[in-house]
Amino acid sequence: MQKETMNPGRGKRPLLVMKFGGTSVGSPERMQNVAKLVQEHARDAEVVVVVSAMGGVTDMLIRAANEAAKGDREHFKGVRQELARRHREVADQLLTASEQASVLPRLAEQIRQFEDLCSGFALVREVTPRAMDTLSSMGEVMSAKLQAAILRSLGADSEAVDAMNLIITDDNFGNASPLMEETIAKTRQGLAALRKRGAIPVITGFRGASRSGVCTTLGRGGSDYSATLIGAALDADEVWIWTDVDGVMTADPRLVPEARILPEISYREAIELSFFGAKVLHPKTILPVMKKKIPVWIKNSFNPACPGTKIGPAAANGQPGVKAITSVSKAHLITVSGRETLSFPQLAARVFGALGAEEIPTLMVTQSSADNVLCFAVHDADLKRAKAKLEKSFELELLHDARAAIEVLPHVAIVVAIGENMKGTPGLAGRAFGALGRRGINIIAIAQGSTELSISFAVKATEMKDAVKAIHEEFQL
Ligand code: ADP
Ligand code: ASP
Ligand code: MG
Repeated sequence: MQKETMNPGRGKRPLLVMKFGGTSVGSPERMQNVAKLVQEHARDAEVVVVVSAMGGVTDMLIRAANEAAKGDREHFKGVRQELARRHREVADQLLTASEQASVLPRLAEQIRQFEDLCSGFALVREVTPRAMDTLSSMGEVMSAKLQAAILRSLGADSEAVDAMNLIITDDNFGNASPLMEETIAKTRQGLAALRKRGAIPVITGFRGASRSGVCTTLGRGGSDYSATLIGAALDADEVWIWTDVDGVMTADPRLVPEARILPEISYREAIELSFFGAKVLHPKTILPVMKKKIPVWIKNSFNPACPGTKIGPAAANGQPGVKAITSVSKAHLITVSGRETLSFPQLAARVFGALGAEEIPTLMVTQSSADNVLCFAVHDADLKRAKAKLEKSFELELLHDARAAIEVLPHVAIVVAIGENMKGTPGLAGRAFGALGRRGINIIAIAQGSTELSISFAVKATEMKDAVKAIHEEFQL
């Protein structure tokens, strides 16, 4: 445990929030390993656990709902068997007989609810975002119940806690935002009795509830965010995110096998990396802990001896220049032209007004004043909505042809070089251009903010992997 960062004012044992991702709870052996890690750290610290669904379960649930909504009554029955088999296997292998007797009926109840919901979707040929949230976060309910029961079977005092009673959100189903004041109050209240008793809470990641008590989710990969929300609400000393890699790396290891672990990165670097596609962290993970300066560690549950990556207020060993490369593989560039009808400020106001109304994030933005065009990249998932909203917003200009134009350049990737200490280091962009140019990779658009925290390049989606490798190599990461 990194004692030097623990809260000395607490006087008691430090409080650690530990989140375990899907692969870390993916099988009976992995869940046994989680129990071991939790028990080991619970000797010196107060531990609050947050779990994801068992690896692959959330994908299975979502697919089952979508197939049911298309009218397929068979597919979800197969998923039902698989869900029952995977969770039952854990219970069979790791729970005492009395724990099995109490947990198995509760798992069966979840699986029944899954089947009832899917039958309903098949009947009405629809799945609403609201119903999808209840269904897609059932995996967390089951894994939390099992993980707490495993801890009890090993003699620890532990209870599963449904985050619907702790994390209160708006009702933006599928990507809800927490209401912080209520979440703080509910989390403290909801965990008080267990903490007083010295029991280890095992909380469902990913899900919360709206003010009226309806289940919501925090977006795919949202259990990381659940952990920091709970950490911030409890004024935890640290949040540890246990995953399947040794820490945050200089690039996605699936794209660049020679990527290296970064021992330390800053909050701002972590936000930038996750916003631009580094799956290791949900993009909103850092927000709750930033103000309170609570450190977040990324650690490998398959290799706990490795210290991992510390994410904190400022990286001490700030090496100059580029620190990491990330990329968004599925994006599109939209160019809106105001022709001679709209001034550039009017054009920009209309475009961002339209995107803002739909909460559509842009990945990069550039302008050309001479052509009176604004160009920006959006995620593949947002393209349809962005285009429809823009077309509506410029309806009149588009009707009177030649007064405005909206064009889409499809299938681009956004490659982003990130580093807090790029600021004031001349020549970095030039080196990146050179590296791409030597490999014959054409840069379609570039953007760098005045904070110089990152430089983004839009390239053809098919050239993304080469572009990431080229920049990684150029900066000898
Ligand atoms: P979990 O299920 O534990 O939440 P995720 O699959 O969501 O795990 O995130 C971990 C994965 O993120 C790694 O296996 C790795 O493939 C991917 N990844 C992408 N970019 C990076 C990066 N820069 N550093 C580390 N891992 C990365
Ligand atoms: N199980 C959820 C997902 O797969 C949340 C998470 O794992 O963080 O998206
Ligand atoms: Mg994840």
